[in-house]
Amino acid sequence: MNTITRHRPVITRTATSVLIETPECGFCGHTGSVTLTADEAAALQDGAPIHVAAPAMSRSAREQYISGIHPDCWTELFG
Ligand SMILES: [Zn+2]
Repeated sequence: MNTITRHRPVITRTATSVLIETPECGFCGHTGSVTLTADEAAALQDGAPIHVAAPAMSRSAREQYISGIHPDCWTELFG
């Protein structure tokens, strides 16, 4: 099995990218997804924290991965 179990459920995996489900957003109540490269997903699977596994990922996308809060909702909440 080659799935990410410690982190977020994988929605779709291709040869080059992995779409990962993010938790329910505390602001709007909907789940979401973030796209990682296969390398980033592999690093996460190996236990690296998100900011180490995916340094090129935007801060807002990392926040969504961690907390589920969508970038748009984050903007609504905190400007
Ligand atoms: Zn939201």
